[in-house]
Amino acid sequence: MHKILLLFILVSLLKPLHLDAQYTVMFSDDYPPYNYTNNNGELVGFNIDILNAIQDLYKLEITIEGNSWKTINSALDSNNTDAIGGAHYPGIPDIQYLYTRSTLTTSHCFLYNSNHFDKFSLEKLRSLKEPKVAMWDNDVLIHYVQSINPSAKIILINNYDELIKELENKEITCIFAQRVGSMYQAKLLGKDFIHSLDHRILERNMGFKISKSTPQLAEYINNGLEVILANGKYQQIYDKWIPKYNKSQNELSKYIRYSLIGGGIILTLFLLTLIANYLLQTKIKNKTRDLQLQLKLNSTIMVELEQQKLKAEESDRMKSAFLANMSHEIRTPMNGILGFTELLKTVDFSSEKRSQFIDIIQQSGHRMLSTINNIIDVSKLQCGIEKFDSKKIQPKSILYELRDFFEHEAETKGLILSLLEKVPSSTKAFYTDEYKLNSILTNLIKNAIKYTLKGEVEIAYLISDSKAEFWVKDSGIGIPKDKQASIFEQFVQAELPHSIAVEGSGLGLSISRGYIELMQGEIKLTSTEGIGSVFYFSIPNLGKK
Ligand code: ADP
Repeated sequence: MHKILLLFILVSLLKPLHLDAQYTVMFSDDYPPYNYTNNNGELVGFNIDILNAIQDLYKLEITIEGNSWKTINSALDSNNTDAIGGAHYPGIPDIQYLYTRSTLTTSHCFLYNSNHFDKFSLEKLRSLKEPKVAMWDNDVLIHYVQSINPSAKIILINNYDELIKELENKEITCIFAQRVGSMYQAKLLGKDFIHSLDHRILERNMGFKISKSTPQLAEYINNGLEVILANGKYQQIYDKWIPKYNKSQNELSKYIRYSLIGGGIILTLFLLTLIANYLLQTKIKNKTRDLQLQLKLNSTIMVELEQQKLKAEESDRMKSAFLANMSHEIRTPMNGILGFTELLKTVDFSSEKRSQFIDIIQQSGHRMLSTINNIIDVSKLQCGIEKFDSKKIQPKSILYELRDFFEHEAETKGLILSLLEKVPSSTKAFYTDEYKLNSILTNLIKNAIKYTLKGEVEIAYLISDSKAEFWVKDSGIGIPKDKQASIFEQFVQAELPHSIAVEGSGLGLSISRGYIELMQGEIKLTSTEGIGSVFYFSIPNLGKK
């Protein structure tokens, strides 16, 4: 608001002066884009437009002329013009002329041909031996270039177009010239291979150099500049001539470089994210696989543990069964032995009674011995230390001996015990473990008698060259279907009817099966409750064929 008011005052104050205000202002005609003669022969440029804007503002009558820099300077010296435009301040006090405020700040820079150099820099220029630098004739600037590289060969050219064209000459390393002007000219000539370094050197103010005889003109220009700066006209003119050429190629490439770096960083971050994501997913995949494996392992361990638990329970159950059976099987005969021995010692019985008691003591002793033998046998089988002792045997004679041995016991129970040869036996020598065969048959016959209340027990056999087969058949109580497999386990006894009270440890069948397996044979059972059982087993002839 203040500014607009001030402008108003300035314009109104200066207005009366314009009536007799006629001036001549000269410009050099080859200083683009500030002041130069275009292809149509018109004098145009930034400074011309600025002066015209001020002229319009105050309705002045200014004659604008163009000529060479030297000519216009001498025109000012000889009072043939009131002012010259596009003049740089000398930097030292000038008592001869007036200088207006700056219309623009200019600078110099090095320009190079990007076809000759991929990268050009001040360092590069410093490092070259006797580089050829073309430039406008100006004492101060020559010193500057030589300060960059004292071996530099300076080629002085006094025409902007020619100077720019020098860059096409391969002999020329670079040119040193006005920055905006050169880039503007390069653009006009369509030479986009010309790049400028980003160093702004010798920044100078450019304005109007005015004869001391026309101080009003200086006043118009100074105030007018203030006005057009404030009302936006200056910016319009500036935008028309300067900004398009203001950015050096280097700056542009710098922006491109920054964009590329930025893009690169974003791309790198994106790739890193992708990689991190991939790694994370791989990690999750591996972890999931590990977990699945662990789960699998755990379930295997669980099954194993379950089996161990069952085994432990089984072994616990067996231990209890063993203790229960053994305490019964040892205590009963032991009580018999101790009780009847005591009776024999203390009371005077008839000799008949005494021999009866002695028989009981003897039977109890045998029963205990058989139990202890069974325990030893089953333990040996369990530990795998039971040995197999194969030698030539007579299976038939074993069977006859056993029949004779059990005949009395069977008779006592009112049972018929018979021995039957199914077909005539082979004459070939039979090899197996005699003790074990004896033990198996003893156990099966003993059981058959034990679990049969009436009827008969039949032992049948068939001995061929390769194997011997045996059947122990009884008409006894039979074995329930659901117990037929388990009775071959240790300490397992089928439930017996109350009417039958028999002794037993539940070890006999498990020992028998263990022995048969050792002898590479097999055992089978067929049984019907209340009708009877048939225990069948076969063992191979282990003699040489
Ligand atoms: P035990 O010393 O109890 O007879 P075994 O291992 O020889 O031990 O037999 C296991 C169980 O099998 C017996 O307790 C009995 O219940 C059943 N058993 C064995 N043989 C016969 C049979 N011939 N008839 C009926 N049950 C039998």
